[in-house]
Amino acid sequence: MTAISTDNTPQTAPAEAMDVLQEVFGYTAFRGPQASIVAHVLSGGDALVLMPTGGGKSLCYQVPAIVRHRQRLGVTVVVSPLIALMHDQVGALHEAGVEAAFLNSSLSSEEASTVEKQLMRGELVLLYAAPERITTPRFLAQLDSLHERGLLSLFAIDEAHCVSQWGHDFRPEYRSLSVLHERYPGVPRMALTATADDLTRADMVEHLQLQDAGQFVSSFDRPNIRYTIVEKADPTRQLLRFIQREHAGEAGIVYCQSRKRVEEVAELLAREGIQALPYHAGLDTRLRQTHQDRFLREDGIVMVATIAFGMGIDKPDVRFVAHLDMPKNIEGYYQETGRAGRDGEAADAWMTYGLQDVVNQRRMIDESPAGDEFKRVLRGKLDALLALAEATDCRRVRLLGYFGQKYLGTNGAALRSVCMNCDNCLQPPETVDATEAARKLLSCIYRVKQASGMAFGAGHLMDILRGKTTDKVKQHGHDALSTFGIGTDLSETQWRSVLRQLIAREAVAVATDGFNTLSLADGARAILKGGETLSLRTPSAAPAAREGGGNSRAGSRQRDRSAKSTAASAALADLSAEQLQALTTLKAWRATVAKEHNLPAFIIFHDSTLLALAVRQPQNLADLQGVPGVGQKKREAYGPQVLAALGVSSFDPSAG
Ligand code: ADP
Ligand code: ZN
Repeated sequence: MTAISTDNTPQTAPAEAMDVLQEVFGYTAFRGPQASIVAHVLSGGDALVLMPTGGGKSLCYQVPAIVRHRQRLGVTVVVSPLIALMHDQVGALHEAGVEAAFLNSSLSSEEASTVEKQLMRGELVLLYAAPERITTPRFLAQLDSLHERGLLSLFAIDEAHCVSQWGHDFRPEYRSLSVLHERYPGVPRMALTATADDLTRADMVEHLQLQDAGQFVSSFDRPNIRYTIVEKADPTRQLLRFIQREHAGEAGIVYCQSRKRVEEVAELLAREGIQALPYHAGLDTRLRQTHQDRFLREDGIVMVATIAFGMGIDKPDVRFVAHLDMPKNIEGYYQETGRAGRDGEAADAWMTYGLQDVVNQRRMIDESPAGDEFKRVLRGKLDALLALAEATDCRRVRLLGYFGQKYLGTNGAALRSVCMNCDNCLQPPETVDATEAARKLLSCIYRVKQASGMAFGAGHLMDILRGKTTDKVKQHGHDALSTFGIGTDLSETQWRSVLRQLIAREAVAVATDGFNTLSLADGARAILKGGETLSLRTPSAAPAAREGGGNSRAGSRQRDRSAKSTAASAALADLSAEQLQALTTLKAWRATVAKEHNLPAFIIFHDSTLLALAVRQPQNLADLQGVPGVGQKKREAYGPQVLAALGVSSFDPSAG
């Protein structure tokens, strides 16, 4: 792998960029590395931007696109993998008064040709298209023509991790994007993603030919997300209780592995009075679309989905992401959980995890047609996730560590182990020295195989350890083994927990023979020889105690919200009755506009903008200046309506 240097020296953005930020987007300052990225791109450099979800990637290319278009440098072409994503981004740009369009299969041929004409006339500031369209000869010919006339300004490759086969959304078409560099070497390119372990990052550099690009790596910490991983007992019940206790009436996403599971869980939640909708690739396209629209546009919908759902969903107020089944790797887990709390308010990432998850994921890898080398990488990635699930220390520190980052506390100082917003920090699990128990289990696996010449599954091994004389035990004479009955001190649940942890440590392998038989793996030796001691999470006798979110949380929620949320929610609590009334009115007004424009409400104005308006109580258009999220176009388009909604009967329009 190539050595990776990162260019994080803060730079200030040029004045033109500041103007655009304020005038078009209504924001007063760039966030984090945005200024440096914008400055770098405006000076003609390529950039690789790694920023967590909600970090503000879009502005990194939208601001340079607008600045360069004003400098008559033409169009920015944005490569985007999903139609829904393009639709919402273009909608948001139109709301801000920016000439943007997309080309995709949702357009009629007439609509497409209108967009192409605008493109060729150099009118468009941004054009969004899918990679497969961009690399067609026809589209490349159009780009050639723009390029010859000096009207090809910038390429922005969004969700750039799709180029990597190690990622969770590999899209082979992304590989052909190398043509952009080969054909238009002078046009700056940006690649942006929220996923980035070293392998994926190296892949992006290689396949998108970004060897000379500046690399801008933000902290991947999402401080408002609380990570909780609970032991699977009765997962749907655990989920139901989690939603009822922690997130009643709030929007969330529940990920399940199979379509069938999705259907079952959505049905169960709906029966319990939760507004839950299923989403998976097997549903009729129209129905799927309807469910997605409802999730985006209505309040408090819970989407139960396979991982087919989510990319490009930038709904800001998703309050929880729950995994009923374990994802394949930490990248997937991080990306999926990252869809919670984009607005910076407190949100939960909650997962149930059990032995079956380990077995299933291992099996999927083993049975896949991939080559050995590839499988080895996949297993390594799965192991990292298992280690995260079994961890007894801070989940956030581990998660960030996986992406090669140190956890920096709220004051920016490196912290070793305490985030105080994950289950293990909030309620440190008791750990016991489980070396002895682990050894018993390992020797039992060994003895059984030695005696019978074959391997057995978990259930049978537990029976032997716990000294149960089942028919199977008697039939194989396993009651005569030295390990028979040496583990009566632990329950079967507790033994399963020990076993899971041994699998996570690669001391035990699960066969893919259809019987999930167990055998010793490389990691067993060190444990058996006594060279390694294990400190394991106390096999919990009562998983129910932890399922509510890893914390005895009755009444704790109020505390979370104030401790972990942004100024916006703190302000919400301080609103006067009159301001609250104004907020309600503004929300109703926004819902009407969103419906008219066929866009999600947050694209019209964010909650935080409405809150600022309710607090400020503007009396005229001039008072709208400086409200975060109100740029010039929105002030003109919506200012009078906002004032009217707030009951300002007469105002001086010339004042704005
Ligand atoms: P990402 O694509 O990285 O997930 P977005 O580009 O959707 O993030 O930005 C997340 C949110 O933050 C958006 O609502 C955006 O308007 C807001 N945002 C981005 N940059 C700024 C900024 N400099 N000031 C204020 N809000 C910002
Ligand atoms: Zn923590």
